[in-house]
Amino acid sequence: MKEVGNRKSKKKSKDGQKNKLPTSPFGANFFFIWILAIGLLLASDYIFNPTQVVSYNEILKSINEGKIKKVTISKDQIVAELQEKDQKKLVSYTIEDKELIPLLKSKGIEIQGTPDSSFWSTFFIWVFPLLLIFFLFRTMMGGMKNPLFSMNKSKAKIYMEKDIKVSFEDVAGAPEAKAELQEIVNFLKSPGKYSRLGGRMPKGILLVGPPGTGKTLIAKAVAGEANVPFFSINGSEFVELFVGMGASRVRDLFEQARQKSPCIIFIDELDALGKARNMGPVSGSNDEKEQTLNQLLAELDGFDSGTGVVLLAATNRPEILDPALLRAGRFDRQVLMDNPDRLGREQILEIHSKKVKIAKDLDLKKIASLTAGFSGADLANLVNEATLTATRRNAESIEESDFVKALERIVAGLERKQRIMNPEEKKRVALHEMGHTTVALATHSENVVQKVSIIPRGIGALGYTLQRPVEDRYLVTRKELYDKIAVLLGGRVAEEVYCDDFSTGAGDDLVKATNIARAMVTEYGMGESLGVMSEGRGQSQFLNTPQGAYEMPSHLSEDTKLAIDNEVKSILEKSKKMAEDFIRANSGFFKKASDELLEKETLEGHEIEKLWRQEHLAQ
Ligand code: ADP
Ligand code: MG
Ligand code: ZN
Repeated sequence: MKEVGNRKSKKKSKDGQKNKLPTSPFGANFFFIWILAIGLLLASDYIFNPTQVVSYNEILKSINEGKIKKVTISKDQIVAELQEKDQKKLVSYTIEDKELIPLLKSKGIEIQGTPDSSFWSTFFIWVFPLLLIFFLFRTMMGGMKNPLFSMNKSKAKIYMEKDIKVSFEDVAGAPEAKAELQEIVNFLKSPGKYSRLGGRMPKGILLVGPPGTGKTLIAKAVAGEANVPFFSINGSEFVELFVGMGASRVRDLFEQARQKSPCIIFIDELDALGKARNMGPVSGSNDEKEQTLNQLLAELDGFDSGTGVVLLAATNRPEILDPALLRAGRFDRQVLMDNPDRLGREQILEIHSKKVKIAKDLDLKKIASLTAGFSGADLANLVNEATLTATRRNAESIEESDFVKALERIVAGLERKQRIMNPEEKKRVALHEMGHTTVALATHSENVVQKVSIIPRGIGALGYTLQRPVEDRYLVTRKELYDKIAVLLGGRVAEEVYCDDFSTGAGDDLVKATNIARAMVTEYGMGESLGVMSEGRGQSQFLNTPQGAYEMPSHLSEDTKLAIDNEVKSILEKSKKMAEDFIRANSGFFKKASDELLEKETLEGHEIEKLWRQEHLAQ
């Protein structure tokens, strides 16, 4: 999906006018022009003055024959110009020959000397390679994104947008955040009203939430609602070779904003810039980051919210921010943008499906209930995928089946029907998946199986069991966690029970199960011997971004670590026993259902439930 906002593009204007503020005139192109000019200069010398390399004897011969008009002698070359026009000059290496000059004099030939080395040869031998190394070095330091030879003063660009068409209507499922930011909008619309009673706006507002939840979107919406200019800069672009440039960018940003007040300054991905000092892995340009951060802090302190400039920032990793940034008088207010709940998801789906052609009878509520855990960006992507699916089948409008297909594609990777599994493998996958299914049904957890498939998808998943959470849950009980682990282990257990060996297919399941068991012991105090003790790592609430997860050192003793491992093991063993009992107790259903799955390759939820009911009524 492209920018929101376009929904309103009936007014013809695009999503705000985006203009890059002035950068250095010594841009990338400038350097190429240089090289080109020098190249031409040298080439012209050869084009207009063609030469022919000959032996020294030959030159002497021509001199004696009186063909030569002029001779130029330099330290290492002799160039002889012929009398006849349009003839190539003769060139030879200089030879120590004391008789040459008298000979030339006697023949009346013009003699000329040249300085040892010309400017250009110096340039090419010394300066040019140095320049080249310098630029290559800079390019490497600047990262892959930096175009070759870019001489921009700073990679971090300040963007200024006016007439933003994004409004609060384009942001769904975040009522609290909208309510908090509404106050900022009111302030921007009439700054005078707020200072009347001496009140002050908070200086900086930090939007906190996992990726794709609409932080950037809502920041723009504030500018759109208040109809003020929107200055933005991205924290992750501040990776500079030269110390001091990031800081001057920050100064520029605030300077420009002050002139355009009332307006909004938005710093996206603040964590990249405002990482706590002396924390985190070693990075190349620490000094630079620190200077930039210090400049930002200084600007925040010297920044009067009475001037009508509002500072917004966004991060998905608030826990790594430098505490100095969060002190009173700086980013002292935080607005949470979390993944949407079911109603929120329905509203987000509504917003994005307004831009496409949706079947009249399509129930977005149902789609919303299938997408627990999706972020706003995931949902936007889902609508797009569904649209593409419908387009592919030449449909008039997008139907539920398109959404389900898109969902499957997004959840389990692309369908790859052409991949052929050998019958042995296929049987194993069917048993494995039916193991998950049987335990899921037997635990009576509220996760009803929606679909089981052994059609290979994506790279990792050979089959999958799609479970439907009936509603969003905020609290999960211990029994439910045990059930969850049992369902995850069900696949492995089924292989153990019904095949003589087990395969690598359960690897992913085991990782997930172990993570849950570990969290039960170390975070939720659900272990037996350790009681309510928590590992206390102060982990991020948004740990689902593994590449970003930064673990603080654990303070546990070796004994406790051992005890934790034992507890985790015991939880896994118990759950595994549970899964095995369920699978054995329901062997009739298991066999029938896995045979049917093997034959049909996919079973829908209602088909599975029918088999389950039949088996249990028969008993
Ligand atoms: P973040 O900055 O939090 O990572 P973005 O604001 O960049 O997320 O969101 C990416 C896209 O996802 C948006 O442009 C929008 O299309 C969609 N989106 C995310 N959250 C919402 C929401 N609450 N309502 C509507 N669309 C959303
Ligand atoms: Mg963003
Ligand atoms: Zn599995």
